[in-house]
Amino acid sequence: MNDNYEYLYDIAVIGGGINGAGIAADAAGRGLSVFLCEKDDLASHTSSASSKLIHGGLRYLEHKEFRLVREALAEREVLLKKAPHIIRPLRFIMPHQPHLRPAWLIRTGLFFYDHLGKRETLAGSNSVQFPLANSPLKAEMTRGFEYSDCAVDDARLVVLNAMQAQEKGAKIVTQTRCVGAHRVFQDTEDQSCWRVELENEQGAYQIYAKVLVNAAGPWVAQFIQQDLQLKAPYGVRLIQGSHIIVPKLYDGDKAFIMQNDDQRIVFAIPYLDLYTLIGTTDQEFHGDPDQVDITELEMAYLLDVSNDHFKTQLTAQDVISTYSGVRPLCDDESDNPSAVTRDYTLALTDEQESAPLLSVFGGKLTTYRKLAESAMAQLKAFFPAMQKPWTDKALLPGAENLTTVEELAEQIQEKVSGIDQPLALRWAHAYGTRVWLWLQQVSSIHELGQHLGHDLYAQEVDYLVEREWAVNAEDILRRRTKLYLQFTEDEKAELENYLIALHQRRAQGDAA
Ligand SMILES: Cc1cc2nc3c(=O)[nH]c(=O)nc-3n(C[C@H](O)[C@H](O)[C@H](O)COP(=O)(O)OP(=O)(O)OC[C@H]3O[C@@H](n4cnc5c(N)ncnc54)[C@H](O)[C@@H]3O)c2cc1C
Repeated sequence: MNDNYEYLYDIAVIGGGINGAGIAADAAGRGLSVFLCEKDDLASHTSSASSKLIHGGLRYLEHKEFRLVREALAEREVLLKKAPHIIRPLRFIMPHQPHLRPAWLIRTGLFFYDHLGKRETLAGSNSVQFPLANSPLKAEMTRGFEYSDCAVDDARLVVLNAMQAQEKGAKIVTQTRCVGAHRVFQDTEDQSCWRVELENEQGAYQIYAKVLVNAAGPWVAQFIQQDLQLKAPYGVRLIQGSHIIVPKLYDGDKAFIMQNDDQRIVFAIPYLDLYTLIGTTDQEFHGDPDQVDITELEMAYLLDVSNDHFKTQLTAQDVISTYSGVRPLCDDESDNPSAVTRDYTLALTDEQESAPLLSVFGGKLTTYRKLAESAMAQLKAFFPAMQKPWTDKALLPGAENLTTVEELAEQIQEKVSGIDQPLALRWAHAYGTRVWLWLQQVSSIHELGQHLGHDLYAQEVDYLVEREWAVNAEDILRRRTKLYLQFTEDEKAELENYLIALHQRRAQGDAA
């Protein structure tokens, strides 16, 4: 590539988390030419370390974040329709302990929660009693409340948005870091554009873009200061949050919201049939966002909250896995990490009418689509011919012609002999109707290629590499399939070997 501006995009997006992928999809669907680079894998940072909820955020009502809660509540219904394979309604049980928040306050909060945002399919809240014998909760918790939110496969939400962006014409590159960008003047026009410097395994190259979107998540401020050598318009507060995964704590498909005596809340969420996900914490983070690990204190905190509520008592030995991420929040100078605003702020700078830079501060998975719409509204002045908002009704890849996930799983079992129900359901949830892209020619389990363990077959891996930017075993096990909780180190090494051979074959195919 040379300096002939051949690769002049309308927008270059830095960062392949939910915000970058969401903006790329929205912009590409409005007819803009879009480039997105991600330094690692899609969703490899904050966007795969969440509590995996599409939620209004009941506790943000206490912090008077009414705008955010209203928008997030309404988004639950929008996103459920856009991606019913990866998003499902989830009932939450809140045990009531009178010494924490009084019942009238909770009832009032739930009333607002039911009515603040548009609710079409999700059930409203109600009071519940816990019959002593079959309640997983300790005997002193006899009553409480129930309300609705949704659970999501967070990493897949990002990948589906990236796929949608690509299908609308965007260029998406992973394992490619933006190491700098500066404003330059084009020969043909008197308007400046961004020259974006990129690095990947093959070397360095550059592209050009009229607008630069900084969706670097935890790196948002650092990117402005170090890579662009500019002044960040806002401070960013990095707040670490961790989760633990333990063997299933209780039967049933409901989640629990536990109120701790420090006024924080912790969720216990049924996870991947076999496990319970417990989180999250909120603590100030000052390290390198590439290296975030649960601390002993956080682990003890989560175990204590769980043990205070459930009959089944846990120790650190019960913890199968953990994960941590940092929330890149807009610094509102709040003393308490739990109270820092979860709302997003978009900062547009076009000093002296030069090429604009739009930076994303804060946000939630739940509001990514609205955030992308706001970003587009801000960029409208630079692209007057840009098409109208379109994402609210557009299905994400895999939701096309999907009746229900259960029906799709049955169709898979009818078409491919030897597939059991758990596998058919896993595929239906992960890929929706896109599963037929690699199952169309297959009529028996024996045609799926090498078995790499735990019902992962070569055909699925090939699809993930070809269509979903998967490169290594971590991408496939942790983010595309969530099979990492079952794979042993040896099985992972075998998958890695398979991938090395696959990449070699693909490279030879490209060269031929
Ligand atoms: C513990 C925790 C729990 C949460 N739970 C929920 C929840 O249940 N529901 C909810 O709605 N929200 C939740 N959130 C919030 C939500 O996860 C985040 O708001 C969202 O994921 C942030 O997405 P992002 O795209 O801004 O950042 P990221 O996902 O971190 O993406 C930024 C990307 O930019 C890339 N990047 C950075 N610099 C460069 C560069 N120079 N070149 C190329 N790429 C670069 C990074 O590699 C990264 O992948 C939670 C957050 C945390 C931490």
